[in-house]
Amino acid sequence: MTAPAGMPVPEQTRPCPVCGSDDESRVFAEARYDLAKLDAHAFASRKLPEYMHYRLVRCPTCDLVYASPVPSAEGLARAYDEAAFDSAEEARCAARTYGRLLGPLLARLPDLGTAIDVGTGDGAFLEELAAAGFETVIGVEPSAAPIAAAKPHVRPWIRHGTFREHDFPAGGASLVTCFQTLEHLPDPAAFARSAWRLLKPGGAVLFVGHDYGALPNRLMGRRSPIYDIEHLQLFSRRALGEMLRRTGFTHVHVRPITNRYPLHYWLKLAPLPTALKLRLCAAAKASWPGQLQVSLPVGNLAAVGFRPGDPPPTRSAAATRHGPA
Ligand SMILES: [Zn+2]
Repeated sequence: MTAPAGMPVPEQTRPCPVCGSDDESRVFAEARYDLAKLDAHAFASRKLPEYMHYRLVRCPTCDLVYASPVPSAEGLARAYDEAAFDSAEEARCAARTYGRLLGPLLARLPDLGTAIDVGTGDGAFLEELAAAGFETVIGVEPSAAPIAAAKPHVRPWIRHGTFREHDFPAGGASLVTCFQTLEHLPDPAAFARSAWRLLKPGGAVLFVGHDYGALPNRLMGRRSPIYDIEHLQLFSRRALGEMLRRTGFTHVHVRPITNRYPLHYWLKLAPLPTALKLRLCAAAKASWPGQLQVSLPVGNLAAVGFRPGDPPPTRSAAATRHGPA
């Protein structure tokens, strides 16, 4: 079969991208995909699930489920650059969910100088960061379409391209965030190490990802939207904590979160036949019950970890310590 131009074909086997184990004895799921059926939305966020995935292996050492073989990094970057975007409303809902995670973290950061959000989409979360008081907010997004859809005042905050550590000053950020994006990165542990180096001592990462071990995902099995051609790895609570601790983060805390979306969006993710689902989604989107905001624990994890250092306990103390003599 010849793949359509731009669709990445898996061609490289790899060890576990969190711990480096090459024990592939536990095959979690054999590959299931048809490149001919993937369209421009395949590499877009919050799309209609296709239930396709690469071959998945479960790591016996760190509990990560990861794809192997995978496409080349260049093939993936091209697919993301060309991916479509049609989910501004859902992006705002997600940003509000993540904004609620931000609140308790703010007082524990060394300052509210610079925050970097990787995989920022249309930058909806950058508005949350700015509203929280960060002086400089920077988003990184590999796809052109969500940036084009960004609000005019947000667009200048977004850098178009794949995240590259050397685009940022080392030790300059107080917070690095990454939501529903770790699964898409060819090397998530390398990204965690980059984040660590970009942080000031005492600075923090805030990551959100899928938990393949969560009850809804176990109940849905391969009909769960987490089994996706874009997802090069899937975390569990243990695997995500392992990645942060192995990187050198301290005070690592990983916990399940609830997501809040309108009902019509939840329908989009439901394990139903596609034709039926499209009709239900259209009907729900056009009706008031479809607009109801519903919070559900759907198997997402939030992880926080701090770069070791000596952060002041509160910002008022920091102002006293670092303020003019
Ligand atoms: Zn591993």
